[in-house]
Amino acid sequence: MSHIDTISVHAGYSPDAQGAVMPPIYTSSTYAQRAPGDPIGFEYARSGNPTRQAFESALAEVEGGTRAFAFASGMAAMATVLELLDHGGHVIALDDLYGGAWRLFERVRTRSAGLQISYVAPDDIEALKAAFRPDTKMVWLEVPTNPLLKIADLEAVVGLAHSHGALAVADATFSTPYLLRPLDYGFDLVVHSVTKYLNGHSDVIGGAAIVRDAELGERLGYLQNAVGGVMDPFSSFLALRGLRTLPLRMGRHSENALQLAQWLEAQPQVARVLYPGLASHPQHALAAKQFKQGFGGMLSLELASDDAGVRRFLAALRYFTLAESLGGVESLISQPFTMSHSSLPEDLRRQRGIEPTLLRVSIGIEHADDLQADLAQGLKAI
Ligand SMILES: *Cc1c(COP(=O)(O)O)cnc(C)c1O
Repeated sequence: MSHIDTISVHAGYSPDAQGAVMPPIYTSSTYAQRAPGDPIGFEYARSGNPTRQAFESALAEVEGGTRAFAFASGMAAMATVLELLDHGGHVIALDDLYGGAWRLFERVRTRSAGLQISYVAPDDIEALKAAFRPDTKMVWLEVPTNPLLKIADLEAVVGLAHSHGALAVADATFSTPYLLRPLDYGFDLVVHSVTKYLNGHSDVIGGAAIVRDAELGERLGYLQNAVGGVMDPFSSFLALRGLRTLPLRMGRHSENALQLAQWLEAQPQVARVLYPGLASHPQHALAAKQFKQGFGGMLSLELASDDAGVRRFLAALRYFTLAESLGGVESLISQPFTMSHSSLPEDLRRQRGIEPTLLRVSIGIEHADDLQADLAQGLKAI
C-alpha cells in the first residue's frame, strides 16, 4: 500500500477529458437527462456534484474508508451523523468535548430528538464500562480531546462499544488521517471539521464523515441528501486542494509544536503545558503508541498569572493571532474560557480545568525559532 503522502496527492481524481489535473468547479445546480429517469451523469447538486465527489472520494481513500460525505460545516456533519439514531437513543460522550458538540448534544438534540447523553472521562475505562445501558446506541469521542488534549484507549473504546451493539464515532479533527486513522481501529464513523487541518488554510467552513461499512454508507448517503447540509462546489475544490498537502503540513505542525511545547515547559511564567508528545503528558505512552508520525499541532498551556497577565501576553504576540479555530498554516491562539468553550456553563468549565489562564494554541507552519522568539517576548510582557 502506498504512503499517505502519495495517496493525498493523487486520490479522488484523475485528469479528465481535457487533461485538467485538478477538477473543474461545477456550479450547475441540475443536470440534463436523456429521457425521464435516464440521467447522463449527475442529477441534482444536493444529491451529488462532481467537484464534491472528487473531494469525497479522496477523503475516503486517505482515511482508509469506502465512502466519505462532505458537509457545509463540521457541525452539519455531526448533526447528520446523529440522525442515524432513533428518537430517545442513549449516547456516551467522552469528555472533554468541543464546545459546539456539547451545545448540539445538550441544547438541541436532547430537546428535538430526545437523545440522552452520558459524559465520561476519556482516560477512565471503568467509568465507560459503567455508563453503558441497554439502549446505548453510540459512543462519541474526540482524538485527542479539546482543549485538554486527553487521549482515550481507542482499542478499548471500540471493543466496549461493539460488545454493546453501539456505533463508535471518532471526531478526528485534531489528529487527521496523517497521525491516526480511527477506521483502522474498528471505529464505524470518523467525523471532521474540514475547516481545520484537512483544508488547512483558514478559508473554508466544511465538514465530513467517513465510513468503511457499505450498509452504513448507504444510510449516511441517504441522510446527507435527505437533510441536505452539503458542502458547496467552491469549498469542495479548496478542500481537495488543501488535502493534497496535508502530510507536509502535519509534519511541520507536529515538529514545531513539539519544539515549542518542550521550550514552554521550561519557562517560569508557564504553569503547565498539555501536549501528548511531552513525556510529562499523563498518557504519553498511549499517545506514542497511537500517533505514528508526530503528535499534531495543538497544545494548551496554563500561564502562571491571572486574567490581566493573560491579556498582556496575548496583546504582545506578533505571529500568534488571537482567534477561534485552528489547523491553518498560520499560528493562532485562543482562550477557551471566553471563546471556543464559552457555551459551557461557567461551573462546568472550571470543573473541567478550563480556567481563564488556560490558552489553546494552534501551532502553524512558520519557522519554529520565530514562533519561539515571539512567545518569549510575550511571556516577558506578563
Ligand atoms: C471546529 C470543530 C468542530 C466544528 O466544526 P465547524 O466546521 O466549525 O462546524 C467540531 N469538532 C472539533 C474538534 C472542532 O475543532
